[in-house]
Amino acid sequence: MIISVASGKGGTGKTLVATSLALSLKDNHKVMLLDCDVEEPNAHVFLKPAITGSEAVHIPVPRVDEAKCTRCGKCAEICAYNAIAVIGEHVLTFSQLCHGCGACSYLCPEKAISEEPREMGLVEWGQADGLNFAHGKLTVGEAMAPPIIKQVKQKADNGGTVIIDIPPGTSCPVVEAVKGSDFCLLVTEPTPFGLNDLALAVETMRELNIPCGIVLNRAGVGDDKVEEYCRKENLPILLTIPLDTGIARLYSKGIPLVEGMPEWKDSFRELFNKIKGTSR
Ligand code: SF4
Ligand code: SF4
Repeated sequence: MIISVASGKGGTGKTLVATSLALSLKDNHKVMLLDCDVEEPNAHVFLKPAITGSEAVHIPVPRVDEAKCTRCGKCAEICAYNAIAVIGEHVLTFSQLCHGCGACSYLCPEKAISEEPREMGLVEWGQADGLNFAHGKLTVGEAMAPPIIKQVKQKADNGGTVIIDIPPGTSCPVVEAVKGSDFCLLVTEPTPFGLNDLALAVETMRELNIPCGIVLNRAGVGDDKVEEYCRKENLPILLTIPLDTGIARLYSKGIPLVEGMPEWKDSFRELFNKIKGTSR
């Protein structure tokens, strides 16, 4: 079973929920946590895994042989990302804009374009006290998270429970990270920003046809508009975590909630049972 933990908005407690859920289940289940928030992975801060392997992530970018090129302009015409341009007698490539789709090399009538790998990040994996773990890291200055996310997801164990920490927001990296999930937990907070971004995230999950439920974090900080919205949209609130300085203190020290307050383990196991009862 693949459970994604997402939030429309950053800083709502997504990693707190993903790590606590994984740690609560690991004694009785085979569990793996994948941190797909590759621009800012931080699950390792809480889980402190022993990293046992790593590999670089590359995408293929074009290299033009100007001796063969006739400057016909077909490559520039086909590129949806303006990553290749014919300027006078030269063909310029902008590798940081390139999505590695291969269309330019495939369509070049002179076969003047070859592909060369460009490194854009890495994937690391290991173990954290009986929990399998993998995360991706996008190199600073790189813009494209999806190729790294794809490679992190290839590390998923078969036959166990996989918990994915999804990047915040609702853009391409979120779609790449969440697709294929059996269920998505949406972590939110009861504030106008929380509600606005939750509604966008719900719309995205519905578009992707992924069943979802809500974790309401920092309950007590704002108003009851999120609860009203969930009632209206028929979205189950599966877990409520109160605004609590003790929880915030643990988080700021990099201590998982269920380690600092083991009494929360039962709540996370109950959350898992509710997910099993709700998912497709
Ligand atoms: S499609 Fe090929 S031949 Fe035409 S401009 Fe691009 S590289 Fe040159
Ligand atoms: S590989 Fe795709 S994205 Fe990259 S330059 Fe060629 S057409 Fe554009």
